[in-house]
Amino acid sequence: DELISQIAAGEVVERPASAVRELVDNALDAGATQITVRLLAGGVRLIAVEDDGSGIPQDELPVALRRHATSKITNLHDLESVATMGFRGEALAAIASVSEMALLSRTAQQASAFLLDARSGELRPAARSRGTTVEVKELFFSTPARRKFLKTDATELAHCIEAVRRHALARPDVGFAIWHEGKLVEQWRATLTPAATADEGKRQQALQQRLSDVLGEDFIRDSVPVHLRLGAVTVTGRAGLPDAARSRADQQFCYVNGRFVRDKVLTHAARSAYEDVLHGHKQPVYALYVQIDPQRVDVNVHPTKIEVRFRDSREVHQAVRHAVENALAAPRA
Ligand code: ADP
Ligand code: MG
Repeated sequence: DELISQIAAGEVVERPASAVRELVDNALDAGATQITVRLLAGGVRLIAVEDDGSGIPQDELPVALRRHATSKITNLHDLESVATMGFRGEALAAIASVSEMALLSRTAQQASAFLLDARSGELRPAARSRGTTVEVKELFFSTPARRKFLKTDATELAHCIEAVRRHALARPDVGFAIWHEGKLVEQWRATLTPAATADEGKRQQALQQRLSDVLGEDFIRDSVPVHLRLGAVTVTGRAGLPDAARSRADQQFCYVNGRFVRDKVLTHAARSAYEDVLHGHKQPVYALYVQIDPQRVDVNVHPTKIEVRFRDSREVHQAVRHAVENALAAPRA
């Protein structure tokens, strides 16, 4: 069982950044408005993700860790299925199987927080305000083969920052901070109040601010706004002009319904637009947000959840291509 869950964990957790992504995902799911990530040694020695979300009730702390491990072991008949079954609800269990994990959490109803040590199972009262801290220590300590594949701390740190950056670019209503070895390395403040998230104008304004904070003021200067609605698909964001690539080569951020994705349909559509308008600009920088009826997209095709499958990829391709073409071809002030 231990072995199977460790192999399964490998599908979810390849490096510290994958754990960071899952933990930040959970914090966002819990309605956090401020998320702080603390790292030691590029996340290998410690990843602590702290949020002010709903918290996990005391009696559910052990369940959060175990819940899916149980169904996984009864359902897993061969290793093949590890890659195909999907990993919804398995992140905490998977990370816990390859690290020393502790959960510290408090709900609004509780008089105190509780701390669960995943390894010993010990549960005891502790102190913190409402929300959750997930602490992951010594990632891959029990799987030295995997630990060997990790790069330098600086490289792992860069990947961790990138993982948070991807979340941050989609959530201007949430503040993010990243600390490494006790030093604040990134901080992006929330510029959208929870009450204003439904106001599309304010959302777009906050998103521009977040793009500026995360990708730099120079990216805003060297990019053009994207906005197009084509049929069931809405595309917004910013497309970088050739100058933008100088400071920030080859950074492409695509979101589908608020979730960061890597998708060939989207990147191909954007690349085609750049080729048409700027005649083969090779390394464009852009952040594109695609909104589409959830029924027309499947986001669960890969355990890491960054791949999607569109029901009608032509419709999405067209919308993105036209959106970026229009943006790049529009006269500039
Ligand atoms: P999933 O997020 O897909 O449900 P996870 O293994 O990532 O699976 O998390 C298991 C459960 O633990 C979640 O469903 C949630 O109930 C709880 N949980 C994890 N992290 C947090 C958090 N930061 N705040 C509140 N609840 C959390
Ligand atoms: Mg999760």
